[in-house]
Amino acid sequence: MPELRHNILTNQWVIIATERAKRPEEFGKKNKEGKVIPSFVQTCPFCPGNEKLTPPETFVVPGPKGWQVRVTPNKFAALSYQGERKRFIQGIRRTITGVGIHEVMIETPDHSKTTALLADSEVTTVLKTYLDRFAFASADSRVAQVVIFKNHGEAAGTSLEHPHSQLIGTPVITSQLRERLIGSLRHYDEYGECIFCRLLEVELKEEARLVCQTPHFVSLVQYAALTPFSMLIMPRRHMACYSEINDAELADLAHNLRVTLAKLYHGLNNPDFNYVVRTAPIENRGVKYYHWYISIIPRLTRTAGFELGSGMFINVSLPEEDAKFLRGIKVD
Ligand SMILES: [Zn+2]
Ligand SMILES: [Zn+2]
Repeated sequence: MPELRHNILTNQWVIIATERAKRPEEFGKKNKEGKVIPSFVQTCPFCPGNEKLTPPETFVVPGPKGWQVRVTPNKFAALSYQGERKRFIQGIRRTITGVGIHEVMIETPDHSKTTALLADSEVTTVLKTYLDRFAFASADSRVAQVVIFKNHGEAAGTSLEHPHSQLIGTPVITSQLRERLIGSLRHYDEYGECIFCRLLEVELKEEARLVCQTPHFVSLVQYAALTPFSMLIMPRRHMACYSEINDAELADLAHNLRVTLAKLYHGLNNPDFNYVVRTAPIENRGVKYYHWYISIIPRLTRTAGFELGSGMFINVSLPEEDAKFLRGIKVD
């Protein structure tokens, strides 16, 4: 019989379709096995030598090929850098001017690389860049929320192959983040504990869904994963905001993220995925009720009408088997 599991972080129900469940390795069958990606592509706007194809950079980490990480405003920005944030209310309609920040963070000069194939030190540089740009965007008085994310592959919504992440600072705080902040605050008030610290404690005790443990971080498949192999990377130390991370933790996160993604890369033939840094806004630094983390969502199945119509998901894999499979994939 299928089982319905409740995702305590997103407040969504998931049907774990045990009878329709596929073996973990089946999810890798249709992926990019054997595809050879060159290190340099003449027409790629993110490859070294093509810097003039992007807007002028806002942040650079120098490297042997001129730069190691390069940040520029998105040429096709979703929001405008210029202008004031203004709110209009007319009847039942609310409108806000589309101002904000939209940056692209080019993670390496090498076109053929992906996080799984970088050195830990290179991933550390990328994560440090997130810190800098998060602080920059958060300091803009028009910005209410900053989202850092990565789209890898077409099914994850990217058209550019060159490894990059993005940051969008929006002039409003979204209902998704607000509801999660309120939900975790309510849990804190009722139970006197951080819901995320508690979740991590339960997962560490049960062990069945753990993927990679490092001194400061734990990656795991969610108990009520909405989709196959949907994972979290959680800091062991309670921190509400990504900006609270220290240098030792940053280096450790780089290693954990790289190993976790390398398990996906080698285990499932480089699947498309998104990851998102889910953090409290900078003004909520230090609060006891929220706990930042990274969510990794491999794009192995499609979201269809039922999910759209209900907000409920059907997961055709078993989270415990997904985790066991990934633990068994050995990477350096
Ligand atoms: Zn490129
Ligand atoms: Zn916590």
